Amino acid sequence: MENICPVCHLPEDICTCKQRSKENKQLKIGLERKKFKKYVTTVVGFGSEEEGKEVAKYLKKKLACGGTYKDEMVEVQGSQKEKVKELLIKKGYLEELIDA
Ligand SMILES: [Zn+2]
Repeated sequence: MENICPVCHLPEDICTCKQRSKENKQLKIGLERKKFKKYVTTVVGFGSEEEGKEVAKYLKKKLACGGTYKDEMVEVQGSQKEKVKELLIKKGYLEELIDA
């Protein structure tokens, strides 16, 4: 049976989370202002496209808002850095590896 990573929910053989912890690679949460004064919250620093997509899906579901993953960046609608950080921690990311 395949082991599934609790952080990214990918099979452990393609998961890069452990490697991330070793490299101390940080996720960076930011805020961008788009046209018409709309904000998007961004997250960068994922180890793989699969991981980024998984996180985008998770945040979209938990925040009940629009979200995408493209160009190695997760974007969710609205100004919600705190909530995003909280959810990433709930998902299993280490707080010290999240730069928000
Ligand atoms: Zn993982």
